[in-house]
Amino acid sequence: MPSLLDSISELSGVGPKREQALNKLGVFTIDDLLTYYPRRYNDLAQKLPSETLDGEKVTFKGLVTSPPVVSRLGFKKTRLNFRLTVSHDTIQISFFNQPWLSKNIVVGEEVAIYGTYNKAHQSLSAIKMMPKNNENELEAIYPSSKEIKAGTIKDLIFQALGKYGDLLTQEIIPSDIRRRYRLMNYHDTVFGMHAPENEFLAGEARRTASFMEFFVFQMRLQVIKQMDRHNQGRSVNFDNQQLKSFIKVLPFELTAAQKKVVNEIVRDMRRPVHMNRLLQGDVGSGKTVVAALAMYAAITAGMQATLMAPTEILAQQHARTIGNYFDPSEVRVEILTGTTKAAARRQILADLAEGDIDILIGTHALIQPDIAFHNLGLAVIDEQHRFGVQQRATLRKVGVNPDILAMTATPIPRTLAITAYGEMDVSIIDQLPAGRKKIKTYWLRHNKIAKAIQFVKEQLASGAQAYVVTPLIEESETLDVQNAQAVYEELSTYFAPKFNVGLLHGRLSNDEKDTVMTAFKANEFQVLVATTVIEVGVDVPNATVMLILDADRFGLSQLHQLRGRVGRGERQAYTFLVSDPKTQYGIDRMEAMVETTDGFVLAQKDLELRGAGDVLGNRQSGVPEFRVGDPIADLAMMNVAQEEAIEIVSQPDWDKSPEMVGLAEMLSETMNRYRNFD
Ligand code: ADP
Ligand code: MG
Repeated sequence: MPSLLDSISELSGVGPKREQALNKLGVFTIDDLLTYYPRRYNDLAQKLPSETLDGEKVTFKGLVTSPPVVSRLGFKKTRLNFRLTVSHDTIQISFFNQPWLSKNIVVGEEVAIYGTYNKAHQSLSAIKMMPKNNENELEAIYPSSKEIKAGTIKDLIFQALGKYGDLLTQEIIPSDIRRRYRLMNYHDTVFGMHAPENEFLAGEARRTASFMEFFVFQMRLQVIKQMDRHNQGRSVNFDNQQLKSFIKVLPFELTAAQKKVVNEIVRDMRRPVHMNRLLQGDVGSGKTVVAALAMYAAITAGMQATLMAPTEILAQQHARTIGNYFDPSEVRVEILTGTTKAAARRQILADLAEGDIDILIGTHALIQPDIAFHNLGLAVIDEQHRFGVQQRATLRKVGVNPDILAMTATPIPRTLAITAYGEMDVSIIDQLPAGRKKIKTYWLRHNKIAKAIQFVKEQLASGAQAYVVTPLIEESETLDVQNAQAVYEELSTYFAPKFNVGLLHGRLSNDEKDTVMTAFKANEFQVLVATTVIEVGVDVPNATVMLILDADRFGLSQLHQLRGRVGRGERQAYTFLVSDPKTQYGIDRMEAMVETTDGFVLAQKDLELRGAGDVLGNRQSGVPEFRVGDPIADLAMMNVAQEEAIEIVSQPDWDKSPEMVGLAEMLSETMNRYRNFD
């Protein structure tokens, strides 16, 4: 019995080599192959020469206005020439090595020819004659790889459509939704995507396929959310009095926004359901202390808390900052990272299991099977955009399904949040601590760099410190480091003997990085030349200037993150973007940085400037990639998909309805993964 779950090796022409090549494209089963949709279509439909680009493949329909002439170009090589008048243009048509076609070319008759257009010569290098009446033929073009050509993929898909097409009967989108939004059934969608009869149907098939993709995605999020709610989460019964007294002894007054989110978080923690909350706040908005308060709340409830950071440096910094908030005789804070020595690690694990450690801070090293908490109440993830949905899910396995607080300083435009964080509740800190001065940002071209360096020198003379950031050069870490090294040497000479310069880059070991950062914090040197490893979170309040070299090599979000490293103290801070952008887009970005310090505004701008594809393709955005749909262009559709998904999961036993068999099956893996937490 043929089945959609059959391996693609069941198709004729698929041996081990092709199978491997397809596997690499994520295609394992017939089902995968049939949903391997074309990226676009070559419009075989006729066009006018004036609307055709040079080199474009096109079909011209017109009148034959000169008799066909066959010339020999050599042994067995021929060329068939004639003129075709298309509207007001006369096009020279050449067929190579198909002399027999000449009998079909009759002066005064209409023909349609498909080929590649050469605009300068007004000629068409013909590929084939087209049936005249089939005006809307679309040719599907598939994403391919070095190992397998688009044409081969297409042939296999058409073979599969023939052999397995009748099996496409399992609907995923419930019929009433399909009816309401005039969507196609699954069978017609798949056929319409691969072999559309015309442009309209191609569009409709794509609309349905996009909706289906969004709908399944939103169903997955809603299922996760729903299960969270039903999961016997743990009620973190914190002591409000203790929490209040702790807030009183903080070295600063919380901002109104911080108070609001602390309230939201601890209230959610107290509920007997699982918390899955995102804390969003621009750089410098003070998320760390909020996390510390949430962790303290867990401790007053007799539970433990953990915080996971994406890098060693950040974990170290958090351990210090958070450690400083607490009296060590009351709250024990430990750190566990990849560099923790074996003996120390053993001790930490033992104490953790005994409940002798209250807060464990670390990196990915926290997610290890042998790590067992005594009573974990809260897990915090810092800079969560560095971790995917998968890792977020993995963290839940630490301890017994603890409440989760994820933090991010990467503002996601509101239009994308629904996609990026749909499964989470969101708290936003939309205010910076009082007295924080706006960072002044200047953009200057390379030939003005001396001015900026002079300014840096003046700042140093007044007792401040400075960052000089060197960019990633074409993704090569070696060049990257060499470049940073060169800048470091130049500046060392320039600032000597009064000021010292340090160097930080990705090739240093974690210990070395930490030594450098600690020394910079202690003002042992005044200028830090660094690659983007300082990008997130590292805090040196005395640093007031940042010079970013070749700033146009960075994305807006990244520049914004970098800039957030200064202006963390009382003094006015400055950022200099040194760059000679070569495109309008580069200029626009520099100007956007100068104009605003609001991360949300910049994120939105980035989205507008780069377009959805780039922003979404960027894994750091935390937004999953979609194969068919465009969650920005089709935002309204995404919203509808979400509404429908919410409606469905609100029905008890929705997955038992016969209409939902296909959908439930698609989601079964997610459901099982989350059921295991019960
Ligand atoms: P981020 O949100 O970027 O992680 P941090 O938590 O590192 O920001 O806070 C940035 C700086 O602001 C830290 O030095 C912190 O001590 C300080 N800070 C946080 N909250 C306040 C506040 N309410 N008033 C004054 N300073 C604060
Ligand atoms: Mg932070």
